[in-house]
Amino acid sequence: MINLKDPSLLKQQAYLNGEWCVANSGKTIAVINPATGVLIGTVPDMGATETRQAIEAANGAWKAWRSKLAKERAAILRKWHDLILDNVADLAAIMTAEQGKPLAEARGEIAYAASFIEWFAEEAKRTYGETIPSPTQGRRIVVTKEPIGVCAAITPWNFPSSMITRKAAPALASGCTMIVKPADLTPFSALALAELGHRAGLPQGVFNVITGQAAPIGDELTSNSTVRKLSFTGSTAVGRHLMAQSASTIKKLSLELGGNAPFIVFGDADLDAAVEGAIASKYRNSGQTCVCANRIYVHDSVYEAFSEKLVAAVQHIQVGDGFTEGVTQGPLINQKAVEKAEAHIADAVAKGARVLTGGKRHSLGRSFFEPTVIADVTQDMLITREETFGPVAPIIRFHSEEQAIAMANDTEFGLASYFYGRDVGQIWRVAEQLECGMVGINTGVFSNEVAPFGGVKQSGLGREGSKYGIDEYLVVKYLCMGGI
Ligand code: ADP
Repeated sequence: MINLKDPSLLKQQAYLNGEWCVANSGKTIAVINPATGVLIGTVPDMGATETRQAIEAANGAWKAWRSKLAKERAAILRKWHDLILDNVADLAAIMTAEQGKPLAEARGEIAYAASFIEWFAEEAKRTYGETIPSPTQGRRIVVTKEPIGVCAAITPWNFPSSMITRKAAPALASGCTMIVKPADLTPFSALALAELGHRAGLPQGVFNVITGQAAPIGDELTSNSTVRKLSFTGSTAVGRHLMAQSASTIKKLSLELGGNAPFIVFGDADLDAAVEGAIASKYRNSGQTCVCANRIYVHDSVYEAFSEKLVAAVQHIQVGDGFTEGVTQGPLINQKAVEKAEAHIADAVAKGARVLTGGKRHSLGRSFFEPTVIADVTQDMLITREETFGPVAPIIRFHSEEQAIAMANDTEFGLASYFYGRDVGQIWRVAEQLECGMVGINTGVFSNEVAPFGGVKQSGLGREGSKYGIDEYLVVKYLCMGGI
């Protein structure tokens, strides 16, 4: 059991229409702590019927919620934000227990999650329309923005809280209602957010959390025409599937999918800063973020020096249970994740790569994995083609700016990119040529609530956070007034 100041934050029921519910079948799904293998609790194993009930509840709540002033909705959301921060210790403990990330990282994610609620509560007061000069006498043209309606969110396990608030905050702030289906590996963080939303005064049906099997819930959310919009964060394969399913009801979509981020170190880079950035980008959350550096390209002139410094820094990473003081890398989420890291390393080594440090399962067992660096990696290896989603840094040598850009763009993904260098001309050239939605220049961390997060190519559609994030939940309406 998790040691919580407020044990009522660990909810083992789903939250539909303002009430805590079990599955119609009475079935449950077990949730396991990946660091210990110990059962944390269970959540209802719901399906299509309960999903329909959630959609009806969200639809029933929509009219009254959208009729409120933006300021009134903002006041409730502000309370939700404050309650989340008041309960940061418990929320972080729930997250570390079910997801594995170190407690300090979990606390950071809770603050990040809350920041979206504060930002969008304010931003919704500024969803301005427009007047347009008419091309015809006696007419006036006005453009308004309206909430799109009932929204669905399907969220992943790597950021169990912030991927929910990044979607729910703009939806709710703009007057939409929402059904969230969290990852079945990390439902307790979602349910704790629902409990705090309830305490903050979110009206019945405005925010619902349904737990259960992904496929039947996803099928209903995508095929039900009452749901006007789906926002998904997860793998490209599942995103593609949901996009195809949503075609039947022409849903508006936001998709935040896989990445394969290049991290380029030019010859004039500050190598210590580049190593610090690479550690932050590559090893955060055990390498399980969609913006993790997946391919580290280093200029020939600094290849050895950078590799040595990176290895030294990686050897300081403390692997262990996220609740243990001083631990900086928790377990991977499950065995499948460990097998993927192993397969990528094995493929690279078979094709000529060298393991500089790590390279195998950690002696702690379970899904713990050694922080790894491999050198002499080339473009034809699996590790440069696919997202590893583990603590493995492959280093690839390059000789010219053109070559680095060509290799960086040689992927169907386009989420994040990073590079380190001091030449201002090169910084502009490279930033403009990288095919991606976000570029970290001399930094390994860039996510926040005020900037637009999202990808190009097969990394997704739409933007989250920032002033752009609220547009995803609004529709433009054109009023043409004649007879004047
Ligand atoms: P990962 O491989 O990182 O777990 P997924 O894309 O599989 O990422 O999962 C992200 C979210 O998508 C989770 O909430 C998961 O339950 C959900 N999901 C997976 N498959 C489906 C599906 N067929 N329909 C709807 N949701 C799905």
